[in-house]
Amino acid sequence: MVVASCLDRDPSCLIVGAGITGLMAARELRRLGIQVLVLDKARGVGGRMATRRFDGGVFDHGTQYFAPSSAWFQSRIAEWIDGGVTKEWFRVRSYEMDERFLSAARYCGYPAMTSIPKLLAEGVPVHTGERVTRLDVVDGCWRATTEADTTYSARSCLLTPPVPQVLELLEASGVALDDELEETLTDLVYEPCITLMVVCENTPMMPENGILEFERGDIRRITDNQRKGISREAAAVTIHATGAFSAAHFADDDETLARYLLDEALPIIRCGAVSWQLHRWRYSQILTPHPEPYLHISETPPLAVAGDAFGINGVEGAARSGMEAARMMLRHLQ
Ligand SMILES: Cc1cc2nc3c(=O)[nH]c(=O)nc-3n(C[C@H](O)[C@H](O)[C@H](O)COP(=O)(O)OP(=O)(O)OC[C@H]3O[C@@H](n4cnc5c(N)ncnc54)[C@H](O)[C@@H]3O)c2cc1C
Repeated sequence: MVVASCLDRDPSCLIVGAGITGLMAARELRRLGIQVLVLDKARGVGGRMATRRFDGGVFDHGTQYFAPSSAWFQSRIAEWIDGGVTKEWFRVRSYEMDERFLSAARYCGYPAMTSIPKLLAEGVPVHTGERVTRLDVVDGCWRATTEADTTYSARSCLLTPPVPQVLELLEASGVALDDELEETLTDLVYEPCITLMVVCENTPMMPENGILEFERGDIRRITDNQRKGISREAAAVTIHATGAFSAAHFADDDETLARYLLDEALPIIRCGAVSWQLHRWRYSQILTPHPEPYLHISETPPLAVAGDAFGINGVEGAARSGMEAARMMLRHLQ
């Protein structure tokens, strides 16, 4: 049932966050005939499917790759390959394979990770640079107020930032949660990831596929963006610290962190650094996702939370959560 007091021009669903969850939800709602508007605080779309450029280097500095554990996601990957925004990056040997995965192939965005969210955002009304700071119910609609003091109303609202940021927004808005829901959401813990991007002086010594993953030490992974095929002009590596190191050193200053990670990584890959940039992901990956694909916060008007914290983690879980949340919203709006 459509709430009568909502203005006709209001979109039916306001989506906070233009990462893969929000964009998959937006596309599915539009396919189902529902008007949407997506708001994101960042300058571009993609969230943690992120790419950065500096000094000639191109870096995927969030998600590195994804692999399908369901036929549904395998089909999405096939669509993205057809759309020219995804490629098979490498294959794992069978003895390394995790039984959760359907195929040995690991995929990445092409020509870079952000190409996927950019394709998904085509034709979707997305307002970037809009940080939602408050949500209120006004005349039966959800009204979002942004940092720039702009307001947007809709008959329903889907929140897709990492859950701790959703909780902050709800608290700032005075939206009360029942004790059980609050405890469930508070229990969803993400690990941080300190990420160092380095433009290299010479070609780093890396495996053919361009990825080195570590079981011990403070570095989880080093990725060679040139071998990966996204940094054409310059040798450029992304270094991801482990969750434990990142949590312990999150507040350290950039210079100290960069020096430490350079000293750890460069002797392994035998290269020098021309320049570097550091990024702190406070919420990189969820440790234990909630089994449901989304959770309701309120039914009238509908408000729900979705993302990689629901269902299964990573890009696949986020995409699936967005699609399931969209279908649920449709049922509530009809
Ligand atoms: C370093 C790193 C490595 C990773 N490696 C892998 C990997 O190898 N494989 C894999 O599958 N996954 C990996 N992931 C996880 C994967 O990136 C995420 O699971 C997925 O991208 C989550 O998508 P999302 O849309 O749910 O959230 P996000 O991508 O975080 O999108 C949420 C969006 O909400 C916006 N937002 C937040 N607050 C507000 C607000 N108040 N107002 C407006 N907008 C707001 C943000 O700007 C963001 O764009 C990695 C992540 C990181 C950081």
